[in-house]
Amino acid sequence: MAQEINQYEGVKQKDEQYIWHAMKPYNPGGTIVVTKGEGAWITDVDGNKYLDGMSGLWCVNIGYGRTELAEVAYEQIKELAYYPLSQSHIAAVKLGEKLNEMLDDEYVIFFSNSGSEANETAFKIARQYHKQNGEHQRYKFVSRYRAYHGNTMGALAATGQAQRKYKYEPLAPGFVHVAPPDSYRSNDKQDGKPHELESVQALDRTMIWELGETIAGVIMEPIITGGGILMPPDNYLKGVKEVCEKNGALLIVDEVICGFGRTGKLFGFMNYNVKPDIITMAKGLTSGYLPLSATAVRREIYEAFKGTEEYDYFRHVNTFGGTPAACALALKNIEIMEKENLTERSFQLGEQLKCELNMLLEDHPYVGDVRGKGLLVGIELVKNKDTKEPINVNVVNQVIANCKKNGLIIGKNGATVAGFNNVLTLAPPLNLTDDDLTFIVRTLTDALYEVAGIGK
Ligand code: PLP
Repeated sequence: MAQEINQYEGVKQKDEQYIWHAMKPYNPGGTIVVTKGEGAWITDVDGNKYLDGMSGLWCVNIGYGRTELAEVAYEQIKELAYYPLSQSHIAAVKLGEKLNEMLDDEYVIFFSNSGSEANETAFKIARQYHKQNGEHQRYKFVSRYRAYHGNTMGALAATGQAQRKYKYEPLAPGFVHVAPPDSYRSNDKQDGKPHELESVQALDRTMIWELGETIAGVIMEPIITGGGILMPPDNYLKGVKEVCEKNGALLIVDEVICGFGRTGKLFGFMNYNVKPDIITMAKGLTSGYLPLSATAVRREIYEAFKGTEEYDYFRHVNTFGGTPAACALALKNIEIMEKENLTERSFQLGEQLKCELNMLLEDHPYVGDVRGKGLLVGIELVKNKDTKEPINVNVVNQVIANCKKNGLIIGKNGATVAGFNNVLTLAPPLNLTDDDLTFIVRTLTDALYEVAGIGK
């Protein structure tokens, strides 16, 4: 161990010197420089171990240290290191077939490298699709406040978090936002109106005011994740799909976080009994072991790109989307998920996690709500449980730093959602052990009570 620590001497200083880290305010308790991972656990240069309650950035769904994935990538690179998908290769074909089997319908798959790119691809496909159907006026996209859809100029325009966009504007034009449903705060309403109706109506009205015939598509996550784990009512997504159909707009579902078992179903939309027109995915597709994303498009949309006009084909290419190694690795990742029943495990552990946290935190003065689906859990902290006034972000940061000090990494929606930087997030690897779950519950509840200055 001593030798290992020596090996990394000076690394932290060099990190400060050379690495431009994303999202500084996400690091309460300081930056850690990580050297290895196994299961749900990571180790830093000082030999400290942490349970990664966020799967990196919501992506290491099958956990760390899966050497099978390294072997598959190694074998694939030896066989065929690279070929672009303007032509084709076997690993991409096999992965396309597998994703179709998982999606339970017929989709054609376009591969890219990141969630942002998968969403940009979806926007371009939607706009071109409508134009090729003679609907040249359809260019707008509707998305929701509090949702994150990526860092590029279109995906960031779709993002409904003003703090992410501030100082980068103007972004891509043509994006309109509506308020998302929020089951916790909707309880404030006394008029007895079904919550799902209200949020679907808000979308419907926005479409009317924007002119339905100008809307190319609606993009949303099944559950808003990074914006604070906002739970929709069960019929919401179905209602959204109906509004889309009524207005001739495509429904794009962003499964970048919710996909691959995270919510206790293979894909998040499968909780809500809808068939999206376009599905974007990344993160859990490879569990973060290599970059890869996909935009799955219903076959009938794809067919519109087979026209005979000069510009009817999709003129969108990227060099690295769908490399052989990334596709082969994704297949192995999915095989492991299936073999170990990780989607079912996500559902069961998620229920247990919520139940235990609810039990232990019921009387905690700051804990307004514990919610989620599968191993996607949010804990909303408030100053006052009656008024639901969000707690100051400093308190949220203290809880995160306290957890980190005690070996648990958790996340937050802080620094991105104006006025509501008050939700702690958990999205641990789906192969979490029972002991890991106990560790999360104990460390997090201890931190919450310590920060509130009270014993349990
Ligand atoms: N969509 C959602 C819901 C995300 O959470 C993210 C990233 O966190 C993205 C899209 C963008 O993905 P990427 O960071 O791979 O570009």
